[in-house]
Amino acid sequence: MKVVQAYRFALDPTPSQERALRSHAGAARFAWNWALARCKARYAAERQWYSAVDLHKLWNVLKKADPGLAWWDQNSKCAYQEAFRDLDRALHDFIKSRKGERKGRRLGFPQLKRRGKSKDSFRFGSGVMRCAGTTVTLPRLGTIRTCESTRKLARRLEAGTARILSATVSRSAQRWFVSFTVEVERRMPDHHARPGSAVGIDLGVRTLLTGADNDGNVITVTGPKPLRASLRKLRRASRAHSRKALGSANRRKSAARLARIHARIANVRTDALHKATSMLAARHETVVVEDLNVAAMSRNRKLARAISDQGFGAARRMLGYKTLRNGGTLIIADRWFPSSKTCSGCGAVKAKLALSERTYRCGSCGLVLDRDVNAAINLRDLAASGAESLNACGGCVRPGPAGRRLLNQEPGTAPAGKTGTATGQPAAAGPQFTPRNGSCDLRCVCVCVVSNLAIWRSSGRTL
Ligand SMILES: [Zn+2]
Repeated sequence: MKVVQAYRFALDPTPSQERALRSHAGAARFAWNWALARCKARYAAERQWYSAVDLHKLWNVLKKADPGLAWWDQNSKCAYQEAFRDLDRALHDFIKSRKGERKGRRLGFPQLKRRGKSKDSFRFGSGVMRCAGTTVTLPRLGTIRTCESTRKLARRLEAGTARILSATVSRSAQRWFVSFTVEVERRMPDHHARPGSAVGIDLGVRTLLTGADNDGNVITVTGPKPLRASLRKLRRASRAHSRKALGSANRRKSAARLARIHARIANVRTDALHKATSMLAARHETVVVEDLNVAAMSRNRKLARAISDQGFGAARRMLGYKTLRNGGTLIIADRWFPSSKTCSGCGAVKAKLALSERTYRCGSCGLVLDRDVNAAINLRDLAASGAESLNACGGCVRPGPAGRRLLNQEPGTAPAGKTGTATGQPAAAGPQFTPRNGSCDLRCVCVCVVSNLAIWRSSGRTL
């Protein structure tokens, strides 16, 4: 099966290579701003923008005519070309968002990019892109050493099971990274190594996740809460930064220090999530998680920081592609499924359960259980209730007991307010599919392919 995935490596450039990297990032930024100004001017006169191709043609004429642009040949042509394509896409996405044809948050009009404010990044869409052991080779920049081994990708390239489509170079916290978008021929297992195993996962603020598997084991992953751990350091660094004079060398240094702390927080969080989700996907064939509305939950001012610190959204996205890679299934429970309020012993549902009640006490059967464990058991039982979903992309699932409906969404794409209503279509009306043999109908197959395009990255070395 062909999948598109990213391989990301931290670069270790020489000083002259770093100058070239900065120059390319500057060129991409200039090209974006230049093109945006052209598009705005044309729109004012003709009510029409330039396409990426038109912009490239215009640039090729003007770069030679204008002596002020004589520096253009110091950088790869891709840096300009890809910036024009990015702008083209940004303008189209802006229109789509305006018309309501685009999912997610409403997009604003593309902005000018400013040095030091926007992210340094550029892309190569063609040319010589290679990697061998401890180096990567990029067009115009030549061979650059990497901080970590690139042999995983190098071996695949050698064996002919991978093809590099593009390379994006970016800088975060004073470190340069290259991310290769690679088409990989990947063998997807038909069966999970442990068939029949299931686990229900309750994502929480106190513990990152609480799981209950079908052998009766309870899995608890505390999670490092990296933001909370570094908050003191972050506050001190932020205060010190704000005291530095604008434009001074000291301010630049303190900004770099602050960025390094933020980057480390993100790295610690990603690392913990990768470890936990890999473990779950490898050990259990079926993983059931709740469909949490993370965006809405983050609007709760008391919980927002704790929720963001755990990274719920990322955990679910990772589980989506990792279960698939292991031949398993991810089930996303309905957003309104009362996993916490239901008694895992007798099935009684409480009308109310305050978030501060950490222990579940059943009024009907007298069950006393940790709140998160109770929720995890309820989720696990969903898998056994006969409800099935192929990595949450299935169009239809058989209804479980007590009218429990499952959400048929690709992980991370659940639109708020559209799920879990009693007026939803009957389960039998949706497109049918048989799990794990891919014989679903066309719409379902499309979503399967999209979820296969999940990106997994080799994480950079901690700063
Ligand atoms: Zn009970």
